[in-house]
Amino acid sequence: MAPQHHSLRVVMAFLFGILVLIAMAGLALALGIDVRRENRTIQALNLDADRAQAALLALVDAETGFRGFALTGDEAYLQPYFQGLERLSLIESASPLLFDSKLKATGSILRLADMIQHRILQFSWGIENVRRNGPLIGDRLQVVIRGEEQMDSIRELIGEIRAQRQGDANELSRKRDLRNILAFGLVTAAGVMAISLSITQFFAFRLQIRRRAASESMLQLRGRETELAADMVNALQAAATREETLTIIADYSSQIMPGPTGALYTYDNSLDQLVLSAAWGGAALQSGLIPAFAPDECWALRRGEAYMADSGRVSLNCHHVQGSPHQYLCLPITAQGVVYGVLHFASSAATPELAFSATLDTARGLANRLSLALANLDLREKLRSLSIRDPLTGLFNRRVLDEILDREVARADRVRSKLGVAMIDIDHFKTFNDQFGHKAGDVVLKAVCDQIVKLLRRTDLACRYGGEEIVLLLPEVDLESGMQVCEKLRSAVSEIALGDLVTGAVNVTISVGFSLYPDLCSDRSDLLASADRALYWSKHNGRNQVTCWAAARPNPSLPPAAPVPRITTAA
Ligand code: GH3
Ligand code: MG
Ligand code: MG
Repeated sequence: MAPQHHSLRVVMAFLFGILVLIAMAGLALALGIDVRRENRTIQALNLDADRAQAALLALVDAETGFRGFALTGDEAYLQPYFQGLERLSLIESASPLLFDSKLKATGSILRLADMIQHRILQFSWGIENVRRNGPLIGDRLQVVIRGEEQMDSIRELIGEIRAQRQGDANELSRKRDLRNILAFGLVTAAGVMAISLSITQFFAFRLQIRRRAASESMLQLRGRETELAADMVNALQAAATREETLTIIADYSSQIMPGPTGALYTYDNSLDQLVLSAAWGGAALQSGLIPAFAPDECWALRRGEAYMADSGRVSLNCHHVQGSPHQYLCLPITAQGVVYGVLHFASSAATPELAFSATLDTARGLANRLSLALANLDLREKLRSLSIRDPLTGLFNRRVLDEILDREVARADRVRSKLGVAMIDIDHFKTFNDQFGHKAGDVVLKAVCDQIVKLLRRTDLACRYGGEEIVLLLPEVDLESGMQVCEKLRSAVSEIALGDLVTGAVNVTISVGFSLYPDLCSDRSDLLASADRALYWSKHNGRNQVTCWAAARPNPSLPPAAPVPRITTAA
């Protein structure tokens, strides 16, 4: 998942959490307000129950006072009576709610108020009566007896009212307790959630800081890679030789990809193989690199893209990967469909992903840059080869011959060795051209040159001297071995199956003139001329033969311009 999407989801989840938290807090607050209101109501109900009881007690006191006065006519008994009435009026004025219809049982309350009022009126009448007629005795005692019955009714009604108030208070208490539990649960849950959100935010914040640090260090790394890559490109442009180019590649690649062991295999056209050209990094994994492999032995070349693998899984291994099991990465180096090489990295990390996933892009970038560098190198080598080689035959040109001849003569002088020179000319080539055409002549000329080059030693040098004339420099030969080489060449050329190349052509032969420095010709400037004169004698004597320039001059009276054939071999 992309980090931006991840961050967005975290932020959304966080906002959602905060909303839930706010809702929970709001609910808990509403519950708290309810509980407060209910507490007040419960208090009021309890207070009312108490006051109803107090009102009853005040009325009982008034009743007792009244009864004492009624039975004795003694005014002193009226003191508790008045005190009772006073308490009653105090209770009524302090607690108008007691008789408020909001607290239910309105009917009972009104009835109670009526009954109390009625009783108080009875007291007033009774007192009036006693004061006028004296204490209540005989039948008049009925007033007191009826009053007691009425008091019983009032007592009963107050009992009912108290019970009802207490019942209401109890029910409200139950509800309040439930709300309390709910509010407590909500507050606890909100607390837990707030802590979780804080922890989540802490981790999200820490992750963000780490990501930012990682991306900053990644940017720094990329910046350094870019810098190194630019340096490498500059250095590669200034490189004069193949060796310099490869050294620069190895040096910079090891800095751009500092972890793994690396190797550069370059494609050798003539061998059709990828040849190990540069290696860097850990010696242990370098020792597992093989010197060369065929293009189809590498999965990266076969698939045309980077190949990351574990050498332990043999079935999927590139054939060129050897040594102890390790992780490796191969990248093809190609430009415009031409393969220039393979960039190979090896690592001892646990998995290919661990080894290369972070550096895969860097490796790809490096392979891209190297493809340009190797394409340039290839082009430069081709151009260099064009300036020193003849494009038709692939032999060195005459400029090279002049230079090398001087060097080889000097070397022969220095180490006291001999230098053989053979001048070769194709026989009747003009006629061949006339008969089969110039193009066919080119094909045969190339075939003759290939045949000659094939038989030479690495230290020999073949060069197109002009037209269909070839000069060979054969260092460190003596007269006998030099002549043997010339004869071997003459014979091999005469055996070329021309019919395979040019329809109707029979065969081609060469004439050869051989000279040897310093044995047969001690003058460097006369070396080529002496071989040429020997060639002339081969032609003169019938062609398809080798003639050695007799520098020993058996007959010194002969003019130097007229060469004497000393050894002549012919087919
Ligand atoms: P010979 O050397 O045996 O005396 O006879 P020749 O016919 O070979 O005579 P000469 O060496 O004088 O002639 C050289 C001929 O080689 C002339 C030219 O037609 C041919 N020739 C020279 N260079 C080339 C070349 O690059 N391609 C082709 N097709 N022919 C060439
Ligand atoms: Mg010629
Ligand atoms: Mg010729």
